[in-house]
Amino acid sequence: MKLSLNICHLYSDLMDTYGDKGNITALTKRCQWRDIDISVTSISVGDKLSALTLDFDLYFFGGGQDRQQILVGQDLQKKSKEIKEAIESGAVMLSICGGYQLLQNYFKTLEGVEIKGIGLFDAHTKGSTTRMIGNLLINLNHQLKSGIDYIYPASHIPHPTSNLIGFENHSGKTYLGKDLKPLGTVIKGFGNNGEDKTEGAIYKNAFGCYLHGSLLPKNPHFADYLIVKALERRHGMVKLKPLDDAIEWQAHESAIKRIP
Ligand code: GLN
Repeated sequence: MKLSLNICHLYSDLMDTYGDKGNITALTKRCQWRDIDISVTSISVGDKLSALTLDFDLYFFGGGQDRQQILVGQDLQKKSKEIKEAIESGAVMLSICGGYQLLQNYFKTLEGVEIKGIGLFDAHTKGSTTRMIGNLLINLNHQLKSGIDYIYPASHIPHPTSNLIGFENHSGKTYLGKDLKPLGTVIKGFGNNGEDKTEGAIYKNAFGCYLHGSLLPKNPHFADYLIVKALERRHGMVKLKPLDDAIEWQAHESAIKRIP
């Protein structure tokens, strides 16, 4: 049976200040190159999720400025139940920066505006006077790393599949709840808050991080991991056909070389 993957792009019109749409392009192409049917549906303010929720295998939520987050945060409350049910049923979520912050318990901006999150991630974010900008290199959470090595078809080739490289640009500092696992630990850059060396968060198949860039085109191992986890939801165990990721890994390594 032909594999298919249904993606929900949350607030694609409002939460794409930092070019995170490139992640949708990477997921789409990596599926098309493997003859996997892929659909991308944009859901924004005022759209209903309920009827469609069962169809979505992967949710993507990009970054945005404080101003957009206030508007999106109010609407997200109306989608909270469906999104949390989807994650509990095994759907995948990739959220970047502003999207990641709105999936937490709350985001308090520097001006003191408290934007209620949906509490998918037991964490909170506080606006700060530090603008955390620059290349961000992390060492992956070891459990995730072994999962990626098992799934990523070209893992036998000596690529740095233990890390993720991206670009961060945020003033919000995120602090994880005591049981919430980080996506990884910071090698270079600020990460969640520039203090505790954590970056991002993992809850079931939901991933949050500060890695713009966009992230997936130059981290093919993580892109394939997300694709497999999302496919497994309706298709059971799947094995991906290897792709020639030489250019992706060149991009990965050249971004790392740019770190001072
Ligand atoms: N506005 C949030 C902050 O500055 C998120 C920024 C972003 O999405 N890059 O922390």
